[in-house]
Order: sequence, then structure tokens, then C-alpha cells
Amino acid sequence: MPELPEVETVVRTLEQKIHNRIIESVDIIYERIVDYPDATAFSACLKGQKFETFDRRGKFLVFNLTDYVMIAHLRMEGKFYVYPEHREPDKHTHIVFKLDKGELHYNDVRKFGRFWLYEKGQPLKALESLGYEPFDEKLNSEWLKSYCQHKNTPIKTQLLDQSMIAGIGNIYANEICFDVRINPMHPACFVSREKWDQIIESTRKILAEAIKAGGTTIRSYTSSLGVTGMFQQNLHVHSRAHEKCECGTEIKKCFVNGRGTYYCPNCQKEKALFAAVTGNIGSGKSTVSELIKEQGYPVISCDEINSQLWLDNEIRAEIRRITGEDEKKEVSRVIYSDPEIKEKLEEYLHGLIWQRVREFYEEHIHDPAVFVEVPLLFETDWYRRFDCNILVTCSVETAVERLQRTRNMSRENIMAVLNNQTPDSEKRAVADRVIDNDSTLDKLSIAVEKMLGDIVKFRQEKADK
Ligand SMILES: [Zn+2]
Repeated sequence: MPELPEVETVVRTLEQKIHNRIIESVDIIYERIVDYPDATAFSACLKGQKFETFDRRGKFLVFNLTDYVMIAHLRMEGKFYVYPEHREPDKHTHIVFKLDKGELHYNDVRKFGRFWLYEKGQPLKALESLGYEPFDEKLNSEWLKSYCQHKNTPIKTQLLDQSMIAGIGNIYANEICFDVRINPMHPACFVSREKWDQIIESTRKILAEAIKAGGTTIRSYTSSLGVTGMFQQNLHVHSRAHEKCECGTEIKKCFVNGRGTYYCPNCQKEKALFAAVTGNIGSGKSTVSELIKEQGYPVISCDEINSQLWLDNEIRAEIRRITGEDEKKEVSRVIYSDPEIKEKLEEYLHGLIWQRVREFYEEHIHDPAVFVEVPLLFETDWYRRFDCNILVTCSVETAVERLQRTRNMSRENIMAVLNNQTPDSEKRAVADRVIDNDSTLDKLSIAVEKMLGDIVKFRQEKADK
């Protein structure tokens, strides 16, 4: 099946060959190739139209004519041929465009290709459901993360969804998954924003390389614009079952949603789900962490890591070098009045905390999931690094009541701290799961168990297939 780079190459080649040619007449031999309008109207409208500009949208070819926009999709086997002189159609030719100079033939062995014709200015219905072009600057990880928020689809299948990103076909979906080292079965809703950034970058890199390769190869073609199988020399996993990956492991083939899927079981191993637990002060996020731990999952707390760091003499010396102090209270005073020192200290400590978090994750890589309690998940950009962000929330009243009871703080102090944090409404917008904690411990425990069952069970089901 022609993929985006091949379609792009066909469009650019046709541009070179028939730009400014005028259609004198159109013979439609197999009428069902024309999807809209009917075949008679299609040929009548095209008479006298000039090929002005040539475009591609996803895997669709878009021809801007004098008064109309003609759209074509090659599907499995569609091919264009340009002839300088009259040529008798063969048994697979379905449309003949007679031009003021030469002819354009559309051939299609399987007859799956389709054509559409719209008056200029009318909505292009055939293209309406298409998502972003891979090279569109507006395509970003935040959008992709929210688009996939409720999609349990394997990432490999999700990349083929033309209403998300238009133009990624099976070959490139396999290659992209390998390039960013993601398991093709990994659930789309649990792809981190950082991973989506890598996927976007990789998609652009791979498609651009293929377009470049196609562009050079196709110039040697004279009459035929059939380009199937042209970009296969640079493939790392696609169609390479039983061959060795560059890491030495044998590449595997399986079927995901009925499509041939190739991957390296070593480079693209499915790892533990990397999940963060956060919430404002008084929300009960630590209680949630405890409940997760009780269910047998590995949990680590950034606050605890931080406390341990302060016990290390070398680290204390570095803190003194940055702030001039090494007692927690004194350091707090210094950074409160000097944002520059605060930033330096945070950069240093956050680096160490993150290093420990990653070590902990690697230690538990074969578990179904690893949970990290991160108080400032959304205030830092760490939420971009996790597959799943869990937000624990409660009403202000509950938080006040809880803190008065547990920390002996005054209502005024509590409100000051709460008002200083990012409000839950903003955090909700970027959280993958929200646990409301306004009620009893029993109810919280049930909510946590349900959440765990939901994310972990789902992940295992997918991985076992
Ligand atoms: Zn490998």
C-alpha cells in the first residue's frame, strides 16, 4: 500500500509532469472509482480545467484545478501513468484524462482507489475527518496526550488512526515504535508527554528521510509512477521477522488489530507503568500512597528521598556551597529571599531526587507498575515524564479540617498555604486519574483499589496478548 512518502513523491512527480496541462476530456471506464459526484458529472465538470497546484493531505492527493479541487486516494494498488501521446488503456486502466498534451491514466488492479471532485470553496468532505499533518507545527504532545486520554488502543494501532495524525501507515508505525523504543502494545492512554514528543520527532525524521529517498529514486522513472516497495532499504524492524536487531535479538512478528507488527522484544520490552501520585496539602496523597503500597506495589516518595539527601555529608557540603548554609531552617530563610539561589538549589536537589526515582523504577522494571509520590508534580514539569498522573483531591473544607487535626495549624496559615498552590481545577485538566478524597478511609481504599485494578489489569491484558 502506498504510504505518505510515496504519495508525496507521486504528487511531486505529477506536478513536474502535468503542471498547467488542460483536461480536454475524461473517459471513466470503471465508474465506481469515482466516489463523488457521479461519473457523468465528474467528467463533465473536468472538461477544460487546468492543473494549477498539487498537494497532499494524509495519504490523499489533492489537485487544485481552475474551478474545482480533485482528490484521489490510491488505497492498495492505485497508480498514475503519464504518457506523452495517446495510449490504449489496458485492462487495469479505469480513468483516462486526455490532456492538451499527452494523457494521464489511472490504473488500479484491485479497484480500491477513489476519486472526489468539489467546487472550489466547498468543504472537502473526503478530507474532513483527517487529523494533523505530521509536519504541522500545531501538532504537539499536550494535544496527543489529551486526544488519547480514554483510548486503551495499543500505541501501534493508535498511530494508524488517520483522524489523530494523517498519513502514518503500517510500515512507518512499526518503524516509529522501534525508533522511540516503545512496545507496540503499550496502551495509548499511558504514553507520557515526553514520549509523545519523541514520537512526533521520530515521525517527522522517518517520513522526511523516506520522502527524500523516494524523491531521488522516482526521478529515474519515466512513464510509470508506481512506487510500491521503494523505501524498504532503511527499515529497522518492518518485514524483518527472524532477522537480528542491531542489539542482537531476533525481531518478532505478531498481529495487532489484524496488522502485521514487527518489533524487537529486547529494545521494545514492555516495562512497568510509570505513575505519579500528587495532590495539594491536606488532600491525603500520602494515605493514597500507603494504600497502594498495601496492595503490594512499589511506591517511593520524593519528600522521603529529599529528607534522606539531607543526611548525606557530601550533599550537605554542596548545599552549603550553593546557599551559604546547611541547616534546613537557615537554607529556607536564604532561598525565601533569593530566588536565584533557590533556583540553583532546586536544580541540584531535583536532579538528585530524579536520579533516585529512576533507580527505583529500574529496580522494579518487571512489576506491573511503579508509583512515585511527587508533591510538586504540576509545578515542576515532571508530569510530562510519567505514563500516568494520579491526582488526589478534596474540598478546601476537608483539607482545612484535616490539617487542623493532624498538623495543629491555624485556619489562617492553612488558607495561606492552600492559596499558594496551583488550584485543583488546573491540575485536573492534566491528570490521567482523579481520586476524590472527601469521605472515609474505607471509601478511599475502595477507590484506590478500583483505580489500581483499572490501570494495572488493562496493561497486563494488553501485554499478554
Ligand atoms: Zn533490539
